[in-house]
Amino acid sequence: SLDVHDVHLAFGPNRVLRGVDLAVPRGATACVIGPSGSGKSTLLRTINRLIEPDRGDVLLDGHSVLRDDPDALRQRVGMVFQQFNLFPHMTVLRNVTLALRRLRKLGEDEAVAIARAQLELVGLAAKADARPAQLSGGQQQRVAIARALALRPEVMLFDEATSALDPELVKGVLGVMADLSSAGMTMVVVTHEMGFARQVADTVAFMDRGVVLEAGPPEAIFEQATHPRLRRFLAQVL
Ligand code: ATP
Ligand code: MG
Repeated sequence: SLDVHDVHLAFGPNRVLRGVDLAVPRGATACVIGPSGSGKSTLLRTINRLIEPDRGDVLLDGHSVLRDDPDALRQRVGMVFQQFNLFPHMTVLRNVTLALRRLRKLGEDEAVAIARAQLELVGLAAKADARPAQLSGGQQQRVAIARALALRPEVMLFDEATSALDPELVKGVLGVMADLSSAGMTMVVVTHEMGFARQVADTVAFMDRGVVLEAGPPEAIFEQATHPRLRRFLAQVL
């Protein structure tokens, strides 16, 4: 399980996280929704230690990740960003094998076998030798997902993974994410896709001004929201 406990973080005077709590049982999917600037991306970044919180803790199966070696942690916690961040000068296959070779220290043959299997799972086996620029945005994002999954993470974090995509490409990527959720991956998904949150999430957490204001099963959040700020947010996005 993943447990975010009372996490605080300030950038100078800007208190971006003001005591965030979030519990994601093993195998569950939590969707994080909320207005722009509420701290959603910052929260994900503290979970895989792209930034260190000022206070609070992030526990993975009961052990603080803040004491882990960051490189080791990033093999256990995969992250997919809005901008796919693929290396443009490398083939799709190289993009996926790179971390396997550098972080996991695998040999070429083993890395390639794992990479091909992951590309197959996201429907891109045929694109292994293409460069990122030759792929659609949706295909590039699926490569980014395959790259993260190749390291066999225990948790996957998605930060608006479909926000940069043309509308007709969104479905394919959300489909890969929904399959991953059904397959039992523990996931935290920051998203504006309320349909996805409703259908896939076990828990929906509404963030506002640096705290999780309300969290619960999708039905409770979308149909019985109590907090006026959440009600206002939903009225704007639904
Ligand atoms: P959006 O929905 O627009 O992506 P968000 O909920 O992800 O918003 P964050 O990106 O977490 O919001 O930003 C929260 C606040 O933290 C904002 O006020 C932002 O300006 C500030 N912030 C984020 N990263 C940094 C940084 N590296 N340095 C300084 N301020 C930052
Ligand atoms: Mg963000």
